[in-house]
Amino acid sequence: MNRIEGVKKFRKKPVVIEATQFSYIDGIDGKKTIKFAESIGLSRNKGYSKLWEIETLEGWHIVSNGDWIITGVKGEKYPCKPDIFETTYEPAHQLFEPRPDEGIFCPYCGDYGFDKEGLKYHLTNYCEAYRGTKDV
Ligand SMILES: [Zn+2]
Repeated sequence: MNRIEGVKKFRKKPVVIEATQFSYIDGIDGKKTIKFAESIGLSRNKGYSKLWEIETLEGWHIVSNGDWIITGVKGEKYPCKPDIFETTYEPAHQLFEPRPDEGIFCPYCGDYGFDKEGLKYHLTNYCEAYRGTKDV
């Protein structure tokens, strides 16, 4: 295989985001759907009122049934297709927003706020300090 000069591999840093999956609870025009959509920041498309959309940093985006609405690290919102969401995100396994005096500490990097499962998960997936202690 040919190697292209200067091309390196990258992976996303593990940031924690909040997300809600949008769905037509009682149909596309149902009262519950409308209430839910508005509660997560969606608006009706002005030209075609059957469409829901959300304002993102890059403008308005259509939101379909089943799309996830993500709130990013800076509070920005954007929609994400369910298949993409599934390959990109997984549950953060934290029981609460951690404070320094709460939860279990990671003995390797000092990160905090884990429950037992969360710490195990952190060690095997995210902890660079822990990874540094093992020959991989
Ligand atoms: Zn750690």
